[in-house]
Amino acid sequence: MKYATARAPRYTSYPTAPHFQKGFPEATYRTWLARQDAAAPISLYLHVPFCRRMCWYCGCSMKLARRYGPVSDYLDSLLAEIDLVTGTMPGRQRVAHVHWGGGSPTVLSSGDLSMVMKTLHRRFAVLSDAEIAIEIDPRTLSDELIAVLGGEGFNRASLGVQEFDPKVQTAINREQPFPMVAQATSGLRDAGVSAINFDLMYGLPFQTTAMLSRTVDMAVGLRPDRIALFGYAHVPWMAKNQRMIPEDALPNAAERLEQSEVAAERLVSHGYRRIGLDHFALPDDPMAGPARLRRNFQGYTTDTADTLIGLGASSISALPQGYVQNVTETGAYARAVRDGVLPVVKGRVLDDDDRLRRSVIERLMCDLEVDLVEEAQRFGAQPDYFEPEMARLSDLQDDGLVVISDRCVVITEAGRPVMRAVASVFDAYLNVEGARHSKIA
Ligand code: SF4
Repeated sequence: MKYATARAPRYTSYPTAPHFQKGFPEATYRTWLARQDAAAPISLYLHVPFCRRMCWYCGCSMKLARRYGPVSDYLDSLLAEIDLVTGTMPGRQRVAHVHWGGGSPTVLSSGDLSMVMKTLHRRFAVLSDAEIAIEIDPRTLSDELIAVLGGEGFNRASLGVQEFDPKVQTAINREQPFPMVAQATSGLRDAGVSAINFDLMYGLPFQTTAMLSRTVDMAVGLRPDRIALFGYAHVPWMAKNQRMIPEDALPNAAERLEQSEVAAERLVSHGYRRIGLDHFALPDDPMAGPARLRRNFQGYTTDTADTLIGLGASSISALPQGYVQNVTETGAYARAVRDGVLPVVKGRVLDDDDRLRRSVIERLMCDLEVDLVEEAQRFGAQPDYFEPEMARLSDLQDDGLVVISDRCVVITEAGRPVMRAVASVFDAYLNVEGARHSKIA
């Protein structure tokens, strides 16, 4: 419990985004793109920062799309950015993974979604076995859009489900009854989008363990391949919309922990394998093995590409040399790409220490164990590089959350819910610049 109320990053990158430097030079990103290995497949992330309605729990960078005009204008900018990026990279890059996120990519018209996909195929060599995934708001999924997703080769869809209880849905301003989700799921499968992910959430206002258990049972009845179970992060100082959530209706730390553990046990009893911090996968899903699990800005992934190009406002790119983030404000994004400038505003050049710590943190977050000597040697460091961290882990070991041998750190099942606390021991930036993060459980 003492770790559950602590705050730590989710480690979808290391260093984490609050430690990216402002005013990152566009020229540096251009150089990184130009030096990309032409033979190595890359991944693409396309961000659509629009939604038709705002969920009160939302912590994303999004805008309300009351009219389609701004969405259409944004797509013009997105196409311009694709031109800029592909004009800078060597040759027609092979692409192994495309992920559409937001916001809600399903606010796009079916014609526009199809047009951007065709542009991607022209400007990149999208591999025939590429994973093409999209995040879906079931409330904005039309039959027409489903048909286009199937026709354009989408093969994975993530549906925001969160919780089926009507009282909770009203409190979070996201009303989507079970039949709507069931219909979206079967429609997608019928169209050939065969891999389905659901996002569920605990720690929501008025939510009880019994409600979440019922939601888990209903969700499992639709047999999604993967389920992500996220804790609601109440950070109203960052996301003003969260002020609409009555704080006194939120479960306390002990209730959150119980909700997450009961839901996890229930998912496992339904045949799902527990993956990392918050994911569950059917045994035949690649995430359940033998694929090597990775962590990126979308969470857990089986994507192994070393380069992820983020396209769109606020999106983050990860390249072997470091990270860059695009400007969030859509007006500034549009002006930059119109002027032929890559719209980056923040970034971080990785040094050797960053790369080594990034790898250690990623292995802990994905595998729940890491061989520190092997990692240190792989990055050319001394075998005892992490002596200070080993000493700092002793409290966690005393509490039964990790087991430490000569060279290995293993997170126990009791430690799984607070693995961010374990990973944070290896974070050289934590508390240095005073970034605020969400609670651990
Ligand atoms: S649909 Fe997703 S991105 Fe849009 S407001 Fe809701 S939570 Fe935020």
